[in-house]
Formats: sequence, C-alpha cells, structure tokens
Amino acid sequence: MATTSKKTTPKKATTAKSAPKANPAAKAKAAPKKPAAAKSKAAPNAKAAAKPAAKSAAKKPAAKKPAVKRTRKVEANVAPAEVEVAVVAAPIKTVPAPSPIKEYKPDVIESKWQAQWEQDELYRAVIDPSRKKYYALTMLPYPSGDLHIGHWYAMTPSDARARYMRMNGYNVMFPIGFDAFGLPAENAAIKRGVHPKTWTYANVDRMRKQLRSMGAMWDWEREAVSADPEYYKWTEWFFAQFFKHGLAYKKLSPVDWCPNCNTTLAREQVWGDDRHCERCGTPVIKKDLDQWYFKITNYAEELLDFTTIDWPERVKTLQTNWIGKSEGAHVTFKTERGDDIVVFTTRPDTLWGATFMVLAPEHPLVDQLTAPDQRGEVDEYIATATRQTDIQREATDKEKSGVFIGAYAINPVNGARIPIWIADYVLMTYGTGAIMAVPGHDKRDFDFALKFGLPVLPVIDRNDGLTKSFALGGTMNEGFAQALKDAEIPFFDRMGSLYITIPFEKVDRYIEISKHFVRPDSWNEIVGTRWLFIFADGVKEWNSVEAGRGIFARCKELEPDVRSKRTIMEMLWSVEFYHDALYHDEYGPIINSNEFTGTPGDVAKSKVIKWLEEKGIGKGAVNYRLRDWLISRQRYWGAPIPIIYCPEHGQVAVPDDQLPVLLPDDVEWKPTGESPLKLHPTWKHTTCPICGQAAERDTDTMDTFMCSSWYHLRYLSPKYNQGPFDPDEYNYWMPVDCYTGGIEHATMHLIYTRFFHKALRDIGVAQGGEPMTQLRNQGMVLGEDNEKMSKSRGNVVAPDELVNKYGADVVRAYLMFIAQWSQGGPWNSKGIEGPARWMNRVWNIAMPSEHPAAASDPAAEKALRRAVHQAIKKVTDDMNAFEFNTIIAAMMSLTNKLYDYRAATEGSAAWNEAIETYLKLLAPIVPHITEELWAQRGHGYSIHQQAWPQYDPAAAAEDLITLVVQINGKVRDRIEAAADIGEDEAKAKALSSETVQKFMDGKEPRLIKYVPGKLVSIVV
Ligand SMILES: [Zn+2]
Ligand SMILES: [Zn+2]
Repeated sequence: MATTSKKTTPKKATTAKSAPKANPAAKAKAAPKKPAAAKSKAAPNAKAAAKPAAKSAAKKPAAKKPAVKRTRKVEANVAPAEVEVAVVAAPIKTVPAPSPIKEYKPDVIESKWQAQWEQDELYRAVIDPSRKKYYALTMLPYPSGDLHIGHWYAMTPSDARARYMRMNGYNVMFPIGFDAFGLPAENAAIKRGVHPKTWTYANVDRMRKQLRSMGAMWDWEREAVSADPEYYKWTEWFFAQFFKHGLAYKKLSPVDWCPNCNTTLAREQVWGDDRHCERCGTPVIKKDLDQWYFKITNYAEELLDFTTIDWPERVKTLQTNWIGKSEGAHVTFKTERGDDIVVFTTRPDTLWGATFMVLAPEHPLVDQLTAPDQRGEVDEYIATATRQTDIQREATDKEKSGVFIGAYAINPVNGARIPIWIADYVLMTYGTGAIMAVPGHDKRDFDFALKFGLPVLPVIDRNDGLTKSFALGGTMNEGFAQALKDAEIPFFDRMGSLYITIPFEKVDRYIEISKHFVRPDSWNEIVGTRWLFIFADGVKEWNSVEAGRGIFARCKELEPDVRSKRTIMEMLWSVEFYHDALYHDEYGPIINSNEFTGTPGDVAKSKVIKWLEEKGIGKGAVNYRLRDWLISRQRYWGAPIPIIYCPEHGQVAVPDDQLPVLLPDDVEWKPTGESPLKLHPTWKHTTCPICGQAAERDTDTMDTFMCSSWYHLRYLSPKYNQGPFDPDEYNYWMPVDCYTGGIEHATMHLIYTRFFHKALRDIGVAQGGEPMTQLRNQGMVLGEDNEKMSKSRGNVVAPDELVNKYGADVVRAYLMFIAQWSQGGPWNSKGIEGPARWMNRVWNIAMPSEHPAAASDPAAEKALRRAVHQAIKKVTDDMNAFEFNTIIAAMMSLTNKLYDYRAATEGSAAWNEAIETYLKLLAPIVPHITEELWAQRGHGYSIHQQAWPQYDPAAAAEDLITLVVQINGKVRDRIEAAADIGEDEAKAKALSSETVQKFMDGKEPRLIKYVPGKLVSIVV
C-alpha cells in the first residue's frame, strides 16, 4: 500500500481520486452510493480508479500517516456557497522528500513538483456524487504558434481561482484543449508551405509543454483537440442533428468574401469601417454563394434573457445590442399600380408624417416601378450603391444620396400620395428593405428631405415645450419689442432682428401681440410646439402637407428671398436659431394625425398598432438585427459538412454510422477560391445513403465557431464514442460553473455557444437553458508602451523567457498583481522584479529555521494572529470577486508583518499557524513554492489538498481603546479607535466626531496634539 511504502508506488494505485473513498470515515458519511469512479463508464481511468479505492480502504489502518478527511462548516464569508464541504487532505503515499536545497531555485522546484503532480494525477477530476462539483473552464487556445503572455494572463488567474474552489472542498474540473481547426493555422501553414495538419499538431505539442510550465491544475486526461477525427465526428454529428431538426438550411445569398483568404466571412469576422478581413486586413467584397445557415434567429428572443446567468453587464449589453431587437409594426403601403410594399417601422405613431417612401436599391420592386424617364438615373445609382459596403451605406454622417424612381405609393392612414425613392441608407438586410420616411421625426429621413426638397410634417409634439419665433428686422411694426417686454416674453435683439423663445404658457399671449404688430407685407411664425404662421389678415396653422404648401406659396409671394427654397421646412431651417426646435425624435402626444391627434406619447404606439390591425393595414411586429449563422467555409482545414447531394433525394445527411466524414490529407489546400475538397479527384464522389445512386458530398467545411460551441461538452469525456459526451459525466459536471476568457468573444463565440446549447436542449441532447452559469472576463496585457502587443511594434513579451528567468510562480504573481484582472494593463519589465524579490522573501520567512524558539510574547502573538485572520478575510473576499491584484497586495503586506513579528513569535503555536495559513493562502497563486515550503516544513503532501483557511472574526478584530478628546483643555468627547491607530488617523477621527464638531462650532483648529493611545487635544 502506498502510504506504507518507501518506494514509489505504481501510478494508478496512488491516484488522488481514490482518496475520499479510501477513508472509512468518509465512507460512512457519504451517501450510500457506489463509488463514482466505478459507476462512471466514461472516465478513461475508471477501472484503475476503482481498484485502488478498495485496496487502500482495506489497508488503511497500516498507514503511518493516516489520511484525514476533515469536514467543516464553511461560513458564508469564507466560501462562495454555504455548503457542508469535505476537504480532501493528504490521502496518499510517501511524502516526497523535500529538496535538500536551502535557496530559492524556481527552476529546480517547479519542474520537480510539476512532474510529481502529474505522476500522482493530483488534478485528475472524476465524478464523485458525495462532493459538490465545480466545472471551471477557461477558453481553449488556438494552436497557432507559441503561447503568448495573453494566454498566461487569461489562464493563470483562472487556475488560481479553480485551486481556491478546490481548497474550499469542491470537486473541481479544470480542463484544457485546442481549437485546432481554422484559418489562422491554415494561413500560417500556407505561408510556410507545410501541411496544415503537420503544422497544427506540431504547435499543439509545443503548446502542451508551454501550458504545463504554468503549473496549472489542468486535468490532461480530459484534453480535447477539435481537429481530431474522434472530436470532429461529433461536430459533424451535431450538424446532421441540426439539419434533421430543421435548424440548418441552405440558401443562395450574398456573403462577405475575403479575396485574399479566399473564403466567406461571418458578419463578426469583418472589422472596421472599411470592412476588412479579421484575419488578414484585406477589404472584403460581396459574392453570391450557396451557403449553409443555422437558424440562430429562432432563438433571438431567448438569447436576450440573461436572468439565470451571472455574466458581466458589458457582455449582456453587447449581446443585447448585437441581437438588436426592435418592436413596432409591419405596415402595408400600396403603390399606385397596386403592388403591396410592406415596411417595418418602430414608430407607427408617426405614420401620418410619412411623406415619402424609400426602397433599398436592391428591392425587387424597383425595376418594375421605375418610370421610363427615370430609368437611366436609377440604374446608375443602383450600380454605385451596391458597390458600397453596408457600413458605408449606413454611416449617419454620410452625405445623403438617392434617386426618385418616378412612382408613388399611397399612405394607408391618410390616403396621401407619396413619392417613392431609392437610397443606399436603406438595406435589404434589415427589416423589409423598404421604409416609410418620416422626416419630422427620423434624423436620416429629415436630412434626406432637406437635401432633396421633400415635404416634412411634424406629427409628434415636443415634451420640453420649446417654442420659438424669429422676427426679422423690418417685419414687425414699431413697439413690438416693448410689447414683448411688457408681457415678460424674453428675447434678444441682434441688429434689429428679434430672437424670441416663448414660455409655453405665454404662446397665446404672444400670438395676440404678433398679430397686432406684424406688417401687412410680411409674416411672423411660431415653431416648436405650435406651428403657426401669423399674417396681418389672419393666422394659418401648418397642420398638413397641403397647408404647408399653401403657407409657403404665400411666403414666396411676400418675400423674394425665400423663392430659392423648395419647402417650408427648408425655409425655416435656414434660420439657425430654429434648429433645435424644428426636429426631434422623442415620443410625445400625437399632432396633425386626424383622430389620433392628442393621443399621449406613452400609449401612442400601442393604440396605433391596434388600430392598424383592426383596419387590416398593419400588424404589430418585432424585428431583430441578428442574422442566421453562416456556417459554410470554402476552406480545407475544418470539419467537413456531412451532407450528400443525391439527384433524386436532394440533401441527405450522412448517416451516423458513416461519421466521421474524414478530411483527406492529399488535398491541394492552398486557396484558389474554390473549396479545396471540390478539387480533390475522388473525395466528393459517394453514393446516396437512401438509394445508393452516385451522389456528391458537400465540399465546404464548417466555421470553426461550430467546433468551439461545444468543446466544454467534449472535455466531459474526450474518448467517449457512443455520443458526443458521456451522459453520466454530463449529469454530474454540467453546466460550467465558471467560464473565463476575453470580452472580445462577447458577440461571437459567447452567443454561438448559448445558441448551441439551447438547440441541443430542443433536440433532446442537453438539458437546461444555459451552458455557463458564470462568466468573468479578463482585460488585456498591453506592451510596455501601453499599446496592444504585436510583433510589428516589437513590444511582445515572451512567457517562456520569463519563466526561465524568474520561474512560473513569479510570472503568475506578477500577472495577477499588474492590474485589476477585468481591466488589464501594461507590462512593466521592471515591475516583475517586485514579485521576484517577494518570492525570495516568502521563501526565507517560511523556511523552517534553526533559531531557538522566542520567549512567549502573548501581545505579539495576538497581533500576529490578527494580521493573519484579516488576510484570510481579505483574500477570501477577493478570490470570490476575482480581484487578484488586491490579493497579491494583501499577501505582500502580510509578508511584511511576518517579518515584523518573527523575532517575537518564532517557534510559538501562533507563528506556526501563521506560516501554515500564509502558505495555504498563497498556494492557489504560486503553487510550486508553496508546495516546496509545505514539504520543507514537514507537512504531508500536498498543500493543494488542504482546506482553505477559516477566518475567525474574533481573532481578526482590532483591539479597541478609548481616546479622550479635549477642546481648549476641556474634555468634550470620548471616541473608540483601533489600538494601533496612528497619529494622523486619530486626529482625523477626533475632528470628524459630531460632538467635537458641535463644540468647535465651525472654527478652524489652531493646534492638534495626540498623546498615543490616550488623548487628542484640540486648540481653537
Ligand atoms: Zn483575409
Ligand atoms: Zn438518393
């Protein structure tokens, strides 16, 4: 039996996982179930695990150092959950002998412990129903080359957190794998002339070694590589399932195409205003291709619901905006010829202000509707518009362009005949490709109307009551200004013209005055809340497009200057003073809209929708910006799409027993614009699974986001071959309890994986609505120049060199110290020296010393315990909050205190407790040095199986003393303060006392004296 032997025992006989079962006490407490390992068919080592469990139980009494399983009540402020946790303590075998070294040599101890942990499978995670599980997941890397510091930044704090959960009694699984298909690997291989497979797997090997150097608690038995046939068999299987369940479909559609990478790109793979390829920076072009899509839009509404998951607000907001839900109505307009044109509008309450209509240049009706005399102009415009990208077309600061097509539609709510235009700011891909233009309350429509002289009509009242009038010099008779002053209507006079902002309650009074003073050869107008034109012979309301035309015609007669304008709004817009009053897009009471005039803003939309539905003109509708997920890629290095095209049966999914459809090695994988698999002489030729006739395979491969949408499920049982995962493993480990990774995945991977899970639930493969309960994002490590690290900037930090120079523990500690994890920050090559010195101090203070024990000093021992327990509290709270930088700061501070108290307490129980606790608190952060020091101090292997230290509030409490506060020699107050309060703090505390402030009566203190521990004396 391992624990009695001096020699190294066979690997499988000493696995950590068998420990809880080995202990008779534990057995008694555990639920009367079969050992988990025996039950779990999937665990590759299940048989190996079950056997030693029985053996070790039988031989337990002979153990020299009996394994102890401690059970403790965890307080709410200690562990994230109030659970009875069982902490696995030293269960196994020979305690490895400490190194004979007395100096801190990270290279020696780190490789030693990494080998030891691996040999003992210390971090192997297996099903154990008696313990609470914790699935900690960090985003899997692309094997595109060397591991970079960003991987370390993402993974080592995640590892520390996983270790912390383990020390809190959770059965923690922390797996790792490789996202091995995809463009980055393929492009790199193309550059080097190496087969993508060769190149990828060489990188995987290299990165495995690099990942091992982190000293992370990876369970390597669960490693999954997405390019392995036993992995992508199931990626294909999922595709076939989606196809069978109506969630995958094929359609011809214009796609973004990178002419350099020769592949399709999804919307999120096209970056920047110039719309360049995410991978290579080349501007993308449009191309029509027959493509596979997943119906992610079926889940748009459900994806907006985050109520059951603890994800960062930023991610939720990014996803919400990405999904882009808007509520409104579909409204049917008829053309004069009788065609139906359906528009989607979020503002049905503004329908009466729809004065023209705009179609996307690609709209199918454009060709039929265009009048012969407009044909040339229209065709030219379409050719220009379609060359542009959607982003260019939608840019709000862009000069508006468009063409009238010579046709009219009828506004169904008021019968108005409105012109139909085409313009590039309307996209076929949003809504229906047609809009009703309401220039009074939509900025783009407003700009468009002003530019092209189209009518504008305000139909929504302002909520702010802003009402203005501009009286041009010479338009009003003498005494107008005085009359305004008398009426207390404010204005300012500039060169004889009056600029008047009319208080809302005085608008009627203003009309009276204006009517009285306006000259017969001129007019005065009011804009904002009222739209009135005051002529000497009467007031005209601008309450319809026709009324506006009539008023404007009269203005043109009176004033030659406005004859160059085309509309009444264009005339008003020429007065800059009016700009803020002429346009708004808020909800408000409806005006100028027949029977809806006066409808309050908060019910306007719903009332109009109801009315539209009653009249059969329209229907309430929801629109999403989210598009279906484009899956097809015309590339080689990906999972083949498992579809066969039969002349008779059309699209047929490859049957399960014929999966995987293997990727052939002998392919010309360099991009030609055609799918490489299509060019293979034989690969695509097959037979129909239904009729056996000659048929062809789909020659595209899948988007690699497909592989990464389910890798957390493959980790459950990477070698399982009865399904994508072992249901037993699924039932125990899922969902992922904590997922960590970069925020840049918010709208890609993190939406796809949620969709994937929901689809699997509906197919009946998975349960629950969400795959990952908690998500936390790290920030980015920047270069020393505060810029993003890149080879071209020469600011890249190579983790391997740092590990060689300082050791993994120092790199880990520095990365956690550098900045708030969620924010990230710049690398500092001098900054890392701090943690390097600190590790030496950790080493020196925790190494057992030969000093004789200090004489008993109860006060110092108490103070030491206080420091230790305050640190437990701080580190525990910060671990729960993922605040690693403050953990390091607190532990550095505790290190200083240990040095302070060493002379007075060394050798005492308090000292030993302090050092043990100190090492345990550090263990998740710096796993190697703590393991070595733990062994050096003679404790059982391993520190990583110890229980997290418990916080004792009584021990942490500060001693309190009472300070007397005197003002001018008289005792005025007594305040409580910590025993070790400093002078500045004591003075500040005294001054902030309410009683003291009362006696000081607002006077400034002239002098404050502090008698330590006794008195604060203030002279005023
Ligand atoms: Zn590209
Ligand atoms: Zn067939």
